[in-house]
Amino acid sequence: MKLLEDRIKSDGVVIGTEILKVGAFLNQQMDVALFREMGREWRKLYDGETVTKILTVEASGIAIACMAAEAFGDCPVVFAKKTKTRNVAGDVYSASVYSFTHMVMNEVIVPKEYLQPGDRVLIIDDFLANGEALRGLISIVKESGAALVGCGIAIEKTFQPGGASLREEGIRIESLAKIRAMSEDTGIVFEK
Ligand code: 5GP
Repeated sequence: MKLLEDRIKSDGVVIGTEILKVGAFLNQQMDVALFREMGREWRKLYDGETVTKILTVEASGIAIACMAAEAFGDCPVVFAKKTKTRNVAGDVYSASVYSFTHMVMNEVIVPKEYLQPGDRVLIIDDFLANGEALRGLISIVKESGAALVGCGIAIEKTFQPGGASLREEGIRIESLAKIRAMSEDTGIVFEK
């Protein structure tokens, strides 16, 4: 998606060779008009697919998931909450997720009442790196008995292994910007 790639080029900050900072328009200050276009793009990519629920994980996924939901007929958005404890209380689906940015294990939880076997779920997240966050969310969808339509990612770093291994397992992933390589010196190279 050219609009997103252009924005990454102008306002993204590469830290080392692994982390892209996009606080200026995605992770902290949020460009809602851009998010709206991203939602429309995911809708086009998943044209013809019925989606009854969008699932994401707090915190950065929530805003883009809400704008995607608008494009998918205002379907509900459910977000997995992160908790530090493994003693999760109540009737919830849970999964352990290693956080790429914070380098800690989180338990992510979704109350069972918000995902039903009849649901058709699209997972939305801001970044795809090693695939830990997506794997956690996918396992929650599977446990619920709902159907996974696919995943919509804003920025995939294809030099990290998550996307390739999940696609090999048959998971559909549509990423709006795919970064093949990046460094502080040479900048950002997108996939063609
Ligand atoms: P994964 O679980 O695929 O290894 O990493 C994805 C999660 O880590 C995303 O939910 C995102 O919050 C965070 N993340 C991964 N890479 C980056 C990055 O380069 N920049 C930022 N801001 N977040 C990232």
